[in-house]
Parts: sequence; structure tokens; C-alpha cells
Amino acid sequence: MFENLQDKLDRAFKVLKGQGSITEINVAETMKEIRKALLDADVNYKTAKAFTDEVREKALGQNVLTAVSPGQLLTKLMNDELANLMGGTVQELNITANPTIILIAGLNGAGKTTFSGKLANFLATQKNKKPLLVAGDVYRPAAIDQLEVLGGQINVPVYTDRNSKDPIAIAKAGIAEAKKNGQNVVIIDTAGRLAIDEEMMNEIAEVKSSTNPHEILFVVDAMTGQDAVNTAKAFNDRLDFTGVVLTKLDGDTRGGAALSIKSVVNKPIKFIGTGEKMEALDVFYPDRMASRILG
Ligand code: GDP
Repeated sequence: MFENLQDKLDRAFKVLKGQGSITEINVAETMKEIRKALLDADVNYKTAKAFTDEVREKALGQNVLTAVSPGQLLTKLMNDELANLMGGTVQELNITANPTIILIAGLNGAGKTTFSGKLANFLATQKNKKPLLVAGDVYRPAAIDQLEVLGGQINVPVYTDRNSKDPIAIAKAGIAEAKKNGQNVVIIDTAGRLAIDEEMMNEIAEVKSSTNPHEILFVVDAMTGQDAVNTAKAFNDRLDFTGVVLTKLDGDTRGGAALSIKSVVNKPIKFIGTGEKMEALDVFYPDRMASRILG
């Protein structure tokens, strides 16, 4: 769905860029086109409308109509406005507590385990932290193996208990282990399901209430369109998470999910995943994502 956003916005912009001077009428026309493009890209109606209303008002207020390069000015306005809608500035992780507990949540295949490794690597190499990874997916032995492999690659210890089927006990034991060994960040990877499921939600809510995490990061595949928004809402209603991680932005999605998710759950997007490797993680910059969405 998002793939077409670029073409549509291009078309809308062409109207503007092609004009030597711009009239109020074609600003309105262009806003309509842009709104349509955003709606087609699964941005919800309220957000798309608020966005175009705001941009049009600012455009008229800043005399876009008489500017030397109206298209350019309008593009900048749109960029700024989109960035604002996505939070404006970089949202840092809350990692001052010792140990800091970070819970990772999301559906199977979203990229939780991969992100857990990437985050540990980021904290160790860029924030001077000593992380411990905790393998909390008791249903998939392969997920435990995967986390151990990743931990080995980035040189971060991984706490596992293959005999336990109790994710709460594992999380608590992991935290105790970190305290014992002087690790100051505990990253708890949790079990997902293929779809939203009451049992999974109950379980992760219990892990939350028994570990009091400082950060709960919801991991979601940016390629999943409107589903990403629905999943975000379901997880947020239940977990009241502290941030979003959008994965697989190395694919050809424009990233419209960033705008939709932010507008629906109003939680900051903190990281984006841009590949399978441990280094393929970026802090989320709203202005960069705005440029990407607008092309
Ligand atoms: P989990 O089930 O949520 O733990 O998901 P995984 O971490 O196992 O990831 C599922 C698949 O997506 C794996 O093949 C990962 O290598 C891949 N993956 C995770 N993050 C990214 C990303 O940012 N970009 C790409 N291209 N692939 C990713």
C-alpha cells in the first residue's frame, strides 16, 4: 500500500513545482491530492486532514503564493509539519536506572529477537552500557538459540533457562543475574504470536507487572501497513508501552506506518531497523522520516 505514496505525492507536487507562480486555488488542489495520497497510504483520515489543514494555513500565512520558489517553500513546510506530527525531535531511551529494565514486545516475525540483539549492541558500543539479554520466549526453543547466536556475535551475555516454561520467573532470574554480575541494562525478549492473542497479552502484561520495566518497546514490521497500526493499538491498550521500533525499513515501504502509528497511539518512535545485521539500527529522526515519506 505504501509503495504508491511516492508516485502520488510526486504527482501532487508536480502541480506545484511546475508553476512559476502559485494561486490559492492550486494550493487547495494540491492539498487535496496530498491528503488523498496520505489516505491511500493508510494514514488515517484525521491525521491526513489535520496535516493538510495545518500546512495550507502556514503556507498562506507565509506568503507562499508570492514566494520566489513556492514549491520549495511548501515542500519545506510539509516536511517540518510531518516531522512535528512524528514527534519533532529524537526521543532518547530512559536508561539511567541501574539496572535499567527494557521489555521487548510484538508479534512473531516483527523482528523482536533481532532488535533485542541490535539494541544490546547499540547500548554496549554507543552508550557505554553493560547489557544482559534475557531469552523470555519459552515457546520457541529456536528463539533462544537465535538470541544466543546474536549475543555471541556482539559479545553480550544471554540469560536462558531452557527447563523453565515460566517467562515471569525467567525475567526475574535474569534481572537477579544482571545485578549479581554488574550488568546495568536488562533486555527481555518476549514470546509473540502470529496474531494478537489474549493469552500472549496476559502473559506479557504479567511480565510487565512483575518486572516494572523502565522501557517497553513495541516492535512492528513497517511493511505491514494498516495492520501495523491495529497491532500497535492493541499492544498499547494493554501494555501502555513507552516507545515503538519500526523494523524492515530497508524494504521499499515509504514509512507511512510511522505517521499512522504515532498519530493513533501517540507514543514516540525510538528506533528503526534497516536490515538483518546487528549494526542495522538507527535512532528515529522525525525529519529524516518526513523526507522519506515525502520523497
Ligand atoms: P521475532 O519473531 O519478532 O523475534 O522476529 P525475528 O527477530 O526473528 O525477525 C524475523 C525475521 O525478520 C528474521 O529473518 C530477521 O532477520 C528479519 N529482520 C528483523 N529485522 C529486520 C530489518 O530491520 N530488516 C530486514 N530486512 N529484516 C529484518
